[in-house]
Amino acid sequence: MSPQLILIGAPGSGKGTQAKKIVNELGYNHVSTGDLLRAEVAKESDLGVRIKEVMDSGELVSDELVLDLLKANCAVDKSTYIFDGYPRNLVQAKDLDSALLGGVKSLAIYFEVNIDTLVERIVNRRVAPKSGEIYNLKTKPPKVDGKCDVSGEDLVHRKDDNEDTVRTRMKVFTDNIEPVIEYYESQGRLVKVDATNNLDAIFEDIKKVVK
Ligand code: AMP
Repeated sequence: MSPQLILIGAPGSGKGTQAKKIVNELGYNHVSTGDLLRAEVAKESDLGVRIKEVMDSGELVSDELVLDLLKANCAVDKSTYIFDGYPRNLVQAKDLDSALLGGVKSLAIYFEVNIDTLVERIVNRRVAPKSGEIYNLKTKPPKVDGKCDVSGEDLVHRKDDNEDTVRTRMKVFTDNIEPVIEYYESQGRLVKVDATNNLDAIFEDIKKVVK
């Protein structure tokens, strides 16, 4: 079986776009903790309302809650997954190993990119919730303004993709991720890709790793 893949990259580093290619072309299942949390928010449950407050601020939701959501949504003994947006800190990296992966083979792919260039990228990001397509108004605009090329649905500018929240999210990311990277590196489980490359070149790098 191919390794389980853990994608690590700052918001806007392109990991969501690569995740889609890995699913479509390499047959992986995609599990994004951000998507699972947004689904919970959409239910408008008490829990969803509390999660929304945290997400809108750009801070992290509690480790326990995110782990519970993950456990309920993936079975690594049956399928290969891409973990997108998880782990975000060292506690989560250890939780993933002990509570989910066990001894199953896995690799972490780190999308290296300069944080300063990301803020503009992310503020210009637009997403299509149903088809999962991701656009960028500057570098990958939709053919028709505001509409998804694939599904025709309206594109959404995520509420937490505004500049203030993005800056908080970047800080939260850099403050927490360094120990995670060291954790995987010390175990020989880390692969770095240059996320400033074009999409196809990055995907080629990932394919080499998976095979
Ligand atoms: P994302 O879609 O991955 O950029 O996540 C959006 C927001 O969801 C983050 O800013 C956090 O508030 C929350 N979130 C996503 N994944 C996690 C995680 N692994 N741990 C804690 N909070 C998370």
